[in-house]
Amino acid sequence: MAGEPQDDCLFCKIVGGSIPATIVRETETTVAFRDINPQAPTHVLVIPKAHYRNAAALAAEAPELAADVLRETRAVADDEQLESYRTVFNTGGGAGQTVWHAHAHVLGGRGLEWPPG
Ligand code: 5GP
Ligand code: ZN
Repeated sequence: MAGEPQDDCLFCKIVGGSIPATIVRETETTVAFRDINPQAPTHVLVIPKAHYRNAAALAAEAPELAADVLRETRAVADDEQLESYRTVFNTGGGAGQTVWHAHAHVLGGRGLEWPPG
């Protein structure tokens, strides 16, 4: 069922606490934690606690939760004192998605080129 925890999902395990993470923010509906392989001085992942396979599914099936995730990206940037930052949702393997639980990357703390690779 949409939103239910998945046994084989890394980020559901982080939500459940069976895999540790450096959590920087938590709300009733979201968790934000540092990426294990940071690509910038600040690299935080914001996820909904409920499982959706990507950002598009999250937006379609739980739009209020998608808004919670977006709101938290701003809060992370504020906490990290970032004036400029990038929010990325990789969607699909061809775009670099490797974990099939919707997540926003919040990247900042260095110059970020545009267009991205
Ligand atoms: P994606 O490639 O799906 O857009 O992003 C997945 C992100 O999860 C990657 O940036 C990767 O470094 C991060 N990641 C993978 N495994 C772990 C983990 O066990 N802990 C944390 N904190 N991040 C992880
Ligand atoms: Zn999951």
